[in-house]
Amino acid sequence: MKKLIFATGNENKVREIREIMGDLGYEVISMKEAGIDIDIDETGTTFAENALIKAKAVNEVCHELVLADDSGLEIDCLGKEPGIYSARYLGHDTPYSEKNRIILERLEGVPDEERTARFVCAVAAVFPDGRSEVCVETMEGRIGHKIAGENGFGYDPIFFLPEYGKTSAEISPEEKNAISHRGKALRAMREKLG
Ligand code: IMP
Repeated sequence: MKKLIFATGNENKVREIREIMGDLGYEVISMKEAGIDIDIDETGTTFAENALIKAKAVNEVCHELVLADDSGLEIDCLGKEPGIYSARYLGHDTPYSEKNRIILERLEGVPDEERTARFVCAVAAVFPDGRSEVCVETMEGRIGHKIAGENGFGYDPIFFLPEYGKTSAEISPEEKNAISHRGKALRAMREKLG
């Protein structure tokens, strides 16, 4: 079976990519399972650059097909913050309940039409011969007025999807997978792997 290494320490992402790539005939393995333990500095200025930096760093060690992703939330009225800094925003160890509360506070009084936001995900692939591909996809929505929902993670409880009348933490994981930035970017990459 063909091998594919996913450059992440996040086991949830590995499970998700197994679900999406599983029937392509690839054995999806995590960096840990591949015995690769390297620290990668995300020095890029875009999601695409950061995803490529991670995939390249791991490919240089193992010369296998490597995939990596980078994602985050862009809030238009905050100049697209937190963007590529989404994980570190307001402190890496600050709980998301607190980060979400602070964002809602910062947006107090901002009308719905100016609360537009999107999740962005870049998925990069580096092939054994060093060739690379990147797919970038988004999920559009807006910042709600309250924290709602228990599903998902991170900023999902404040990310309101007008067409559902719910946040992305209130829809099921299957529903989110079908419309999410990460689901779409992984499926787009799937087409390129064939
Ligand atoms: P990374 O892609 O692991 O660097 O994570 C980026 C950060 O963006 C996460 O820690 C979350 O804060 C945020 N993020 C990315 N995708 C989602 C999502 O689907 N829901 C909620 N937050 C997300």
